[in-house]
Amino acid sequence: MLNNLKGKKVLVRVDFNVPLDKDFNVTDETRLLKAIPTIDDILAQGASVILMSHLGRPLKKLKDDGSINVSKFTLRHIIPNLSKLLKRPIIFAHDTVGKDAFDKANVLKLGEVLLLENTRFNKEEAEGDRDFAAKLAKLADVYINDAFGTAHRAHASTTTVAKFFEPEDKSFGYLIENELKFASKLLNSPKRPFVAILGGAKVSDKIKLIEKLIDVANFILIGGGMSYTFTKALGGNIGKSLVEDDQLDLALELISKAKDQNVEIVLPEDTVVADKFSADADFKITDSYHIDNDWMGLDIGPKAIEKFSNIILDAQSILWNGPVGVFEFENFSKGTFAIAEAVAKATKKGAFSLIGGGDSVAAINKSGLGDQVSFISTGGGAMLEYLEGKSLPGLKAIEG
Ligand code: AMP
Repeated sequence: MLNNLKGKKVLVRVDFNVPLDKDFNVTDETRLLKAIPTIDDILAQGASVILMSHLGRPLKKLKDDGSINVSKFTLRHIIPNLSKLLKRPIIFAHDTVGKDAFDKANVLKLGEVLLLENTRFNKEEAEGDRDFAAKLAKLADVYINDAFGTAHRAHASTTTVAKFFEPEDKSFGYLIENELKFASKLLNSPKRPFVAILGGAKVSDKIKLIEKLIDVANFILIGGGMSYTFTKALGGNIGKSLVEDDQLDLALELISKAKDQNVEIVLPEDTVVADKFSADADFKITDSYHIDNDWMGLDIGPKAIEKFSNIILDAQSILWNGPVGVFEFENFSKGTFAIAEAVAKATKKGAFSLIGGGDSVAAINKSGLGDQVSFISTGGGAMLEYLEGKSLPGLKAIEG
């Protein structure tokens, strides 16, 4: 984070893509709260702040007449919350690089905060358009990117805009700095044993992550929908459980690669199976390798919970990405909440724990243990790509 901002106008890309209710009230302020330290610090240095963000996907959800649904997607909705959190009024520009934005940026005084309209009202944003980015850059002296959740997108406000600032006039904000600090600590110098817990629906979404983890972790615990592809590949009968038949060979390859590198891939030995995919389905516990034909696995069973928990409790470093069951349905949420509890306990004993990826973040928050883990990432897709070892355009644009 830059510390020479006195007297400057600072353009900050934040992630204010918050959930709204039907009356457009913010229902979860987490993303606003996470942006505050950077904004407060810039203001405390004696600078002014120009904030830009996207909100939703306005160009994918046009009105019947083909126009943008401004009243639904305007960033105006967040002003009351933001103003309260920053303890000052927010000046709002009705456009992003238009006359209103320029007029208001020109007269912006030190200590003032200007919020631009939703960057995604302009199709140039997602195209990473150079001219659009150049206009954004003209609004300010300095650029700070603090939107980790969109760092994997080569959009104008996250990536292209940085090209118009000298290296000494651009940096990450505190949110991105923290995300990178904790994720790289886990990947580059983890205390051992390092236990990764992977869940979620599909193996195909997580192949790159598993490959990377085989290089760095000691244990990879696999639950959720993706575990059945591994169990089937090993000869199990998985009934109607989720499976990706085109990934069976790859699953075996990953298991054998892990063995070669002395990494233990642990699959759930028992499973909570249901007679349908529904919150009120009948359910029972079965051996994961002998699921009856008409049943499907929706959660890890008690033996798997015990085994996973014991491994987690001995860990010094923990990465959790993806729920180990359909935690949205109460009857199939036990496994995921037990993992949350084990991760919290291990953290209390001194382990470093990082929760990354959308649904495990939702799960840890739903379990009420969100404040008992070391770090919860704000970037679902971006964190996944970072952990996979991909170069993220939003990061590269600043790091060079
Ligand atoms: P992902 O976005 O890949 O992390 O997937 C998260 C989703 O996977 C959640 O909505 C879970 O309900 C779902 N999921 C977890 N376990 C299972 C399972 N056994 N069968 C079907 N879906 C599952």
